[in-house]
Amino acid sequence: MLDVSESKRATFITQRVHVATGLLEGVRQVLSPHHDARPAGVTPDLVVIHNISLPPGEFGGPWVEKLFNGHLPPEVHPYFATIHSARVSAHLLVRRDGEIVQFVPFHRRAWHAGVSEYEGRAACNDFSIGIELEGTDDVPYEAAQYAAAAGVIRALLRAFPGLSASRIVGHSDVAPGRKTDPGASFDWARMRAALA
Ligand SMILES: [Zn+2]
Repeated sequence: MLDVSESKRATFITQRVHVATGLLEGVRQVLSPHHDARPAGVTPDLVVIHNISLPPGEFGGPWVEKLFNGHLPPEVHPYFATIHSARVSAHLLVRRDGEIVQFVPFHRRAWHAGVSEYEGRAACNDFSIGIELEGTDDVPYEAAQYAAAAGVIRALLRAFPGLSASRIVGHSDVAPGRKTDPGASFDWARMRAALA
């Protein structure tokens, strides 16, 4: 009999990116209006890891999905009033229990990195895939999140030849001084071991 974690692991093993639609098979899709075309001829060759939680430090609510869909209600929390009109998104969110939600097809440009630079190339949204982990800079991420993120990144590596295990960075790496996520709580060695 499979327990929940085993059945989730089985799901990850079978994950596939459907390249024509840019969708990850077998995950919930909540498509965001916050995306546009990548520059002509550009395919993703970088993965940017982020964290997000709404309200900050609270997990499990519906608010990240609502933010990415432009429907975050400003009256629910004082912080929401400051960000509800932001037009932001990511390709994927990995929730605390390992659930993956897709917001933007991979061939489209999600609006996750903002002002950013990698190896001298500006505007990382142009050429990256953004993965949000539900979390904060200082709360350890869940084992289910490492497993889910590794599963999806393996699927992305198979689908996009320009990606590689060495081209996975944090938001703080491409926007230093401006962004701190995924933070000290993200165990890069664990992530890289999960991908090996
Ligand atoms: Zn970020």
